[in-house]
Amino acid sequence: MEIKAYDSGLLASNMYIISENGHAVVIDPSRDTSPAKGLTVDLLIVTHEHYDHISGVNDWKREYGAPLLCSEKCAENLGNTLMNQARHFDVFCELQTWIKLDEIPRTDHAYTCAAEKTFTDSMSLEWQGHELRLIEIPGHSQGSIGIYLDDDGFFSGDSLLEGKETELRLPGGSKKQWREIGEPRIKAVPEGTTIYPGHFGKFVKI
Ligand SMILES: [Zn+2]
Repeated sequence: MEIKAYDSGLLASNMYIISENGHAVVIDPSRDTSPAKGLTVDLLIVTHEHYDHISGVNDWKREYGAPLLCSEKCAENLGNTLMNQARHFDVFCELQTWIKLDEIPRTDHAYTCAAEKTFTDSMSLEWQGHELRLIEIPGHSQGSIGIYLDDDGFFSGDSLLEGKETELRLPGGSKKQWREIGEPRIKAVPEGTTIYPGHFGKFVKI
């Protein structure tokens, strides 16, 4: 199995391609569909509804015909340009001070996409001899999830970034949901697990 990260070009968010036996699962698809050329893309998953994590969903569907799986809350927000941030994403980028932007991304302010499959709370699925376990982690956004890959990897979306406080102030963010549901679930990710975050490089949970 191989896990590769690709910078989306939008605030250094990561697209991940997990591949095994010529098949692939893509997490947070960005607009470049070329890295999976020659692979059968079985499934697209988004960690949450924000534009920098969903911008390529429609491109990947068109190119590979793969269905999108996410939480039910995320699916509700994918079609809403306020909640998915498409409406104000470029303005949001202009205000960032923590990342040096060469250019402000050109955002489709009317961007929406849709999910074919959804879940609430948690679900697991078998894929190419591996187990993917998806769990809701509300707080950063209503639709945020984390994804365990077998017992040694965890895709955290924006709910766990190395050395950063989890951002709870964006549309759909909730301190209450984070405190009551999201944060305990992040804390429960075992020490030593490799974290594949929504932005920046992978790290080991301590
Ligand atoms: Zn986000």
